[in-house]
Amino acid sequence: MSSNREPGVVQGLFNPVTLLLAALLILVGCLPFAAAVMLYTLHSRAELSEAEVNAAKTATLLLRSFEQTIEPIDSLLQNFASTFDPSWTPQQTYDVLRAYSLPASIVQVAVIDREGIMVASNLAMPDGKRLDLSDREHFRVHRDRNVAHGELFISKPVLGRVSNTWTVQLTRALDDGHGHFGGVIVASYAISDFIDFYKKLRVEDDMLIALVGFDGIVRARAAGRTSFGDDISKSSAFTRIQGVHEAVYEFTSSLDGIERVGYMIKSERYPIFVVVAYSLEYVREQTRDFRAAIWGTALGLAVALLILVLLARRYLNMQNRLYTRELEGLARQREADVLGAISRVPGICVMQVNEDGPTLIGGAGSGPLSAALGRYLKGGRFQALSAGLKAPLVCSEHLSGAGQDLEVEMVVAPLRTIEAGERAEGARKEVVVFALDQTPRRMEENQLYQMSKLASLGEVATGLAHEINQPLGVIRLAATNALTGMKKGLPPEHLSGKLQRIIQQTERMSRIIDHMRIFGRKSDERLQPSEATAAVEGALQVVGAHFRLDNIDLSTRFEPALPEVLCRQDQLEQVIINLLQNARDALVEHRPDVSGAARRRIRIDVARESAATSPAMVRIEVADNAGGIPEGIIERVFQPFFTTKPPGKGTGLGLSVSFGIIRDHGGSLSVRNGPDGAVFTIRLPARGADTPPPSPPDAPPAIPAASDTPS
Ligand code: ADP
Repeated sequence: MSSNREPGVVQGLFNPVTLLLAALLILVGCLPFAAAVMLYTLHSRAELSEAEVNAAKTATLLLRSFEQTIEPIDSLLQNFASTFDPSWTPQQTYDVLRAYSLPASIVQVAVIDREGIMVASNLAMPDGKRLDLSDREHFRVHRDRNVAHGELFISKPVLGRVSNTWTVQLTRALDDGHGHFGGVIVASYAISDFIDFYKKLRVEDDMLIALVGFDGIVRARAAGRTSFGDDISKSSAFTRIQGVHEAVYEFTSSLDGIERVGYMIKSERYPIFVVVAYSLEYVREQTRDFRAAIWGTALGLAVALLILVLLARRYLNMQNRLYTRELEGLARQREADVLGAISRVPGICVMQVNEDGPTLIGGAGSGPLSAALGRYLKGGRFQALSAGLKAPLVCSEHLSGAGQDLEVEMVVAPLRTIEAGERAEGARKEVVVFALDQTPRRMEENQLYQMSKLASLGEVATGLAHEINQPLGVIRLAATNALTGMKKGLPPEHLSGKLQRIIQQTERMSRIIDHMRIFGRKSDERLQPSEATAAVEGALQVVGAHFRLDNIDLSTRFEPALPEVLCRQDQLEQVIINLLQNARDALVEHRPDVSGAARRRIRIDVARESAATSPAMVRIEVADNAGGIPEGIIERVFQPFFTTKPPGKGTGLGLSVSFGIIRDHGGSLSVRNGPDGAVFTIRLPARGADTPPPSPPDAPPAIPAASDTPS
């Protein structure tokens, strides 16, 4: 019993509140990671824009520096162009060129005539050799007017034929004195200068610093690998800078495949733009520490929260266990209180039965009941009864113990155990048995039964006197007539007729006396199949004559082909006699006038209950026309000792005993008021109907409780 637990407590961990709490904690556990991702994204973005800003600054500075580098060279070229005289000899031209003080980055300054033939170079005195440079771009763009007159052209990097150095050519067109193309002045700028400078500026290996012409040709490029002359006119970066002055660079290089972020800015004075970009890997590398820090923090927080969740779970478990124990304690206390109260009921014994056998848990531990019950609970009959028991079972048993027979009423209830919940199959079985010793009550009822029979006997005695008196009169008359006939010498037929009559009458008398014997003895017969009509006829034989004296019309109506019932006929007869005597008493009391329509009538109907009722029943109805039972008392007529008859006449036992008899037959006795008087109905299960077995043979009828009383 004490192993019973509240299932809600056992499942406490899985209740919605706990699950919600767990979900909440998991959510909270994820929060650090969500925050870390957000922080990381924000920080990465900030790093990127910072890289862009830095690149923009560097690009602007480099563009300025480029312009400032080019400016004096361009001034020199402009100055030469303005003073140039087409009639100068190569020597004169050489002298002019030599007169200029040139920055170190200028590898050479040369003049090319309108035919593309180099006139003079500052590097060497003219030697009369003819050097044709007409194929060079920096000559062609001026000759073909692809560059506006008076504008500086910055060529692609070329390998100088004279200087043998990679240079970009800064060129300006010369005038022939008539406003026509008269040649080109060229300053060769060593690109290695730019490249070296740019290389120094780089903060990482893959950082890109490039000088690109508006034609998409790289003039100088410092990256992981330095280069020049590459054509990037098809690249996304080149497309991006078209039509704008500056733009963000965020591309994968078409030259080395490295992804970079940075900035591009165009010169307003020269056809050149500068690109400064950091490799994305480098930028990301800057956030590495921060990233490690935030992931570490997030992980730490998540672990802390997980520990918190586990602790909370443990705490909840503990709380649930405590709660369960508290409930179990309360339940045990309640059990003890209930058992304590039950134990006070006289003649009760409560036992718990499991695989180890029965244990007394309430009621008297010593005495014949507990000993007999203990033995019974260990027996095979009880094992069979309790096997597979799902709901409480009420039954009564005859137990023998200490030389005494006990009639015990029992409630056998299966107990739900935790083990049974966990292992449905083959689970440990436990039952509790409440046993109440009904022997004293039975004895009391027996006494009542005998008392009621004696009372009825007294009542029927008068009727019997009449019943026997009549055949006695007939016998006396027949004997007298036979004697007279013999004396007169009448033929033997006369004598045998009279004797026959005497035999018939004695048979009738012996039948009546037999009934009296049945009525008087203690019934110990088993239920026998018999016809309900036979019991009615037997009862009429006992009381019929008496009733006729009281001017009562007794009529019977028997449905043909009635099924038999299982009964003790003497008991059924006694019930019918009780009902008839009550009807007669009511008629005598309420119908003093017996003439005409007001005649006293009792009708007995025996019929089969409608086929719809299951199981099939046979109904015996006893109806009178005495006016019925007042509504105020109809509920109480089956109570023992309830009577409205004067003292000495009524015992108040007839109906209660009758009720018990019929109940023991597995049937029912009820009453209602019909149109003229009371209608008592006996219902008995028809033979073969699936009815519960009646009580043991020597069980006297029970006294019904007030609430059992049918109406
Ligand atoms: P008793 O006959 O000794 O009074 P019963 O138990 O047989 O005891 O009947 C109880 C009471 O039921 C009677 O006193 C009577 O008031 C009422 N009663 C029984 N049968 C009838 C009936 N047919 N008509 C009216 N009242 C009845």
